[in-house]
Amino acid sequence: MTDEQAHTLRESIDTISHGLGVREVGVADLEAGSRQVPDIFERVGASYPRAVVMAMPLNPATLEGVIDAPTPLYFHAYRQLNYRLDVAASRVAEALIEAGYRSLAIAASQIVGRDPPRGHVSHRHVAAAAGIGWTGRSGLLVTPAYGARVRLVSVLTEAPLDAGSPMPFSCGGCVRCAKVCPAHAISASGGRFDLEACYLKLTEFTRIPYVGQHICGVCVKACAPDNPARGIDSSGNPAQVSSDG
Ligand code: SF4
Ligand code: SF4
Repeated sequence: MTDEQAHTLRESIDTISHGLGVREVGVADLEAGSRQVPDIFERVGASYPRAVVMAMPLNPATLEGVIDAPTPLYFHAYRQLNYRLDVAASRVAEALIEAGYRSLAIAASQIVGRDPPRGHVSHRHVAAAAGIGWTGRSGLLVTPAYGARVRLVSVLTEAPLDAGSPMPFSCGGCVRCAKVCPAHAISASGGRFDLEACYLKLTEFTRIPYVGQHICGVCVKACAPDNPARGIDSSGNPAQVSSDG
């Protein structure tokens, strides 16, 4: 593939995905990623050198009722966004296949393993490798423009697209998510994320009427885009670091 062909293919991916509501698109180098996550391809059965990762923002209004637990309104928004991401991923995969490259869309949200719960591929890890955000204290992908209020999907591909570079950890002095987590799973002092405590809380939330799923939304809501306490502001510029999360 020439540089011009790669550029044209990338433009086509951006056009398709933006037309379907995607707001952030990145490409991850999975050869580098597989050195950090050795079992990255274990559940897809074949390796791929690149992944296109896409993010759609949540409507902040759907999070207004989320205080210390998920609501049916948030659950609906979560599910609809997953559906729209799956449509975008399948269209992008089709375009890559038509251009001659083996490609595979990975579902936005499909649990295929427990302890810990996991999908075919971790979209968060792929997005961090592509540099569309960083892994925050909550373990969520945090983007400069939308905070953690995004959902993600990935397309694995053999297309030799130019890959992005990881962003530095930029939570700065912010500890908002740690303060509000109902499971006390997030460390404000750089300690380990307590996945087991988080999962137990999410299991408790499955008993909420008209939710019935392992979702939460509390740390997602806390990680707003206009967060002056973190390392960079929503325009991507350095922000004042403060301990007032
Ligand atoms: S709420 Fe603050 S500390 Fe938590 S992930 Fe977002 S920026 Fe980082
Ligand atoms: S999903 Fe909920 S329980 Fe888990 S870390 Fe976030 S706020 Fe805590």
